[in-house]
This record gives sequence, C-alpha cells and structure tokens, in this order.
Amino acid sequence: MSSKPRILVLGAGYAGMMTTKRLIQQLKPEEADIVLVNKHNYHYQTTWLHEVAAGTIDPNRARIMISDVIDTKRVQIVYDSVTEIKPQEQRVMMENGELGYDYLVISLGFETATFGIPGIAEHAWTIENIENSKAIYEHMESQFIRYASGEDDDEKLLNILIGGSGFTGIEFVAEVIEKVPELCRKYEISEEKVRVINVEAAPTILPGFDEELVEYAKTSLENRGVEFRIGTKIQECTPDSFIVGEDKEEIKAGTVVWTGGVQANSIVGEAGFELTKGKVNAREDLRAPGFDNVFVIGDCSWVWDYENDKPYPVNAQSAIQEAGTCASNLKALLYGENTSRFVFDNKGVVASLGKGDAIGNILDDKKLYGKTARAMKNVIDNRYLFLVGGPKLILKKGKVRFF
Ligand code: FAD
Ligand code: NAD
Repeated sequence: MSSKPRILVLGAGYAGMMTTKRLIQQLKPEEADIVLVNKHNYHYQTTWLHEVAAGTIDPNRARIMISDVIDTKRVQIVYDSVTEIKPQEQRVMMENGELGYDYLVISLGFETATFGIPGIAEHAWTIENIENSKAIYEHMESQFIRYASGEDDDEKLLNILIGGSGFTGIEFVAEVIEKVPELCRKYEISEEKVRVINVEAAPTILPGFDEELVEYAKTSLENRGVEFRIGTKIQECTPDSFIVGEDKEEIKAGTVVWTGGVQANSIVGEAGFELTKGKVNAREDLRAPGFDNVFVIGDCSWVWDYENDKPYPVNAQSAIQEAGTCASNLKALLYGENTSRFVFDNKGVVASLGKGDAIGNILDDKKLYGKTARAMKNVIDNRYLFLVGGPKLILKKGKVRFF
C-alpha cells in the first residue's frame, strides 16, 4: 500500500475534471496519489444537455472519454457510483467497493429540485445528465410518431410543455423550437399543430437578468412561435399536464419537462453536511464546514461573495475557477501551508437562443445580442474543451461553425 497521501475526487464534471487536471499540473507523482471516481467512463458537457434533450446534437458529441483527456499514469480512475460519503471515517462507499482518503473533493454536481410540487418527481422529464436528456428527445419524437401513425389523433400529444424560464428552460425552449420544423417534415405533420409552451412563476423570463436582454430573448423566441405563460406558478404535474395558477388551469402536452431549479447531489446532504437552499455553504477556501480535509465545490456548494454580500453565481464558469483554487489549496495542505480564499472572476453570462442567436452580459456589463453573442458562446465552449483536452479536443468536439 502507498504511503503517499490519497486525494480522492468525486465526480468528473467541470469541477472534478478541472481539479484533477490542476492537481496533475501542480503535484509531482511522489507527492500524492490522485483518485478520480465517476459514474461513467465519460465526462459530459453539462452545458450542452439542452441540445441533447431537444435532439439538436448527437449525445455522443457531448461525451468525452475520461481516459482520453486524463493521464491514467498519474490518476487512478474508478468508474463506479458513489452511494455514501462517511466524512467522520474518511471513507467513500460505492456500488462496487469503497475507498479511504486523506483529502476529499466533493464535486458530484446537481440534481433537479422539485420543491415538493406534487407529481414533478414522478411525471416530469428533467435535464440532468446524458441519459435522461437523450430520453427526453426520444420521448418527444415518439409522440410525433404516435400522432403521425394515427395511433392517437389528439393534437395535444404534439405539445411540448416546459416548466421554468431560467437559463436551462430558455436554452432548451430555443433548441426545441428549432427542432420542431425538422420533426414536422420527417413525420409530415403541419407545424401549426405543434405548440411549445414555457411556464414561469416569476413576472418575467430569466428573472434577475438584464431587462433589455430578457426582452430581446422573449421577442426572439416569440417570433419563432414559443408561447410564454409568465407569472404562472406550476402547482402540480400529471403525466400529461401542468396544473397552474390559483384557478388550477390544466395545460396539456405530450411532453412535459421541468427545469424549475437545481440543488446539490443528494449524497451530500445524506452525508450529514448542512444544506442551505439545497447546497453546502463552503468556507472561503472551499472546504466544507467542520472538515479540514474535505472540499465541496461546483454545483454542490455556495461560496460567499463578501464584496457583494451574496453567494457567487453557481455555474460551469465558477466550477472551473473553484477547481483551480481547490487544487492549489490541496497542495498547500500537503505542505502545512495556509490555504487561499476563493475569489470569483466573473467574466459574465452568455445564454444560447439556438444555433444562430444568443444573449450575453459580459465584462463590465457589455451587452451582446444575436450572432455576436452566439459566437461568444462558442468561444466559451471551445475554451473549456481546450482546457480539458487541448486543440485536438476542439477539433473533435468544438463548435467551429459560428453562424
Ligand atoms: P456536473 O457538471 O453536473 O458534474 C457532476 C459529475 O458527477 C458528472 O460527471 C456525474 O456523472 C458525476 N456524478 C454524479 N453523481 C455521481 C455518483 N453518485 N457517483 C459518481 N459520479 C457521479 N453554466 C455555465 O457557466 N454556462 C452555461 O452555458 C451553462 N449551460 C448549462 C446548460 C444546461 C442545460 C444546464 C443543466 C446547466 C448549464 N450550466 C451552465 C450550469 C453548469 O452546467 C453547472 O453549473 C456545472 O455543470 C457544474 O459543474 P459540476 O462539476 O459541479 O457538476
Ligand atoms: P434556475 O433556478 O435558474 O431557474 C428556474 C426557473 O424556474 C426560475 O425562473 C423559477 O422562477 C422557475 N420556477 C421555479 N418554480 C416554479 C414553479 N412552481 N412554476 C413555474 N416556474 C417555476 O434553474 P436552471 O435554469 O435550471 O439553472 C440552474 C443553474 O444553471 C443556474 O445557476 C444557472 O445560472 C445555470 N445555467 C447557466 C446557463 C448559462 O450560463 N448559459 C445555462 C443553463 C443553466
């Protein structure tokens, strides 16, 4: 058995992959054993899942084999599902074994939050990973097939209903409205028969985002045929509808998708870490409260922005940056040095509105619309591919066609 300290990284998403990459760069092989545990043998682009769910990209495009981009001579990769974390015992249980650790990085990502709304967990489709995103598209297409074959002649079968107009909901709606004409051509269905309906409880789509950009996004999507029901709270979900508003109106559809919010992977709460609004409040150096050898990063945690007295945004950009601080703090701990505080360098937000459109608020509040914003989104996606797999990965998976 190795006498070197073992750093165990759980989850190969943005946070886990980049922590592992940074550890390889910052540590010599003799300084620590690095072990990465992930459910699958692939990493996926969570930021492309709405495209997988709408069928506008092939699921394999969003997958990256972990062993293609992580040096397996430096990192032991364990393909298994974590079932339990026992921080007091410094052990992690998996479906097919268990592992001890000296230092732990919890980067197990997000789960859909249902807020206890009846029927959501049982009936709604959710965009969480490759499998369930792929299943959404397969289901949507199967409804078109049922209608076209005459198996069911209810036009409501063709309705696609999306709950929540946050970034995930809006990016998904935009992909769906682009996919509809293709499905209609394929199954010889008139486009007028298909409704894409997006329901949002807040008085606006993309609540909290720049008003001008929100208006641009709403108009762009409405012009393409999306119906918005804003200020309309979803009260319940059935297998083929949302029940909304005070008067319990039923909106029927053949495909019902919930994008109403996210929380930390439930394994984190089950391990005994205290949750605030579904996530752990990480300490300023990204360690979990009460455990000096456990880091909790990415979508599993909030990190406090002391300057603005609110949590930093929780997204891929912050997950990648946290990975850098997490790796250097792990090195500091190995040498008994002081850890550093995480400070987020916010480069802004760009949201896709389909293949040729987007909105963005970047660097010092510069607003971007349309094709310029879309090109910026592609640059961001390609930059990440570069960080993970260098130019080869951009050529293989990148979005090089901007318009
Ligand atoms: P994840 O990327 O979710 O990775 C978690 C990893 O853990 C996965 O590999 C998963 O397989 C693995 N895992 C989970 N459970 C287990 C288990 N039990 N055992 C073993 N492994 C496990 N943010 C942006 O900044 N820009 C965007 O454009 C953007 N677009 C988005 C689009 C969509 C559709 C969605 C859903 C989110 C988007 N986000 C975006 C948010 C961003 O994707 C997340 O903030 C980011 O993925 C968080 O990274 P993470 O590493 O914490 O988690
Ligand atoms: P979210 O929490 O940002 O949005 C959920 C939306 O659902 C909100 O607008 C909320 O008001 C609405 N909602 C909640 N309950 C409802 C109800 N009962 N009825 C109707 N509407 C309801 O969640 P998300 O969109 O899944 O995003 C999750 C995270 O991922 C966020 O941090 C987001 O910034 C990030 N993300 C970023 C991008 C990007 O940067 N391009 C894209 C996707 C997601």
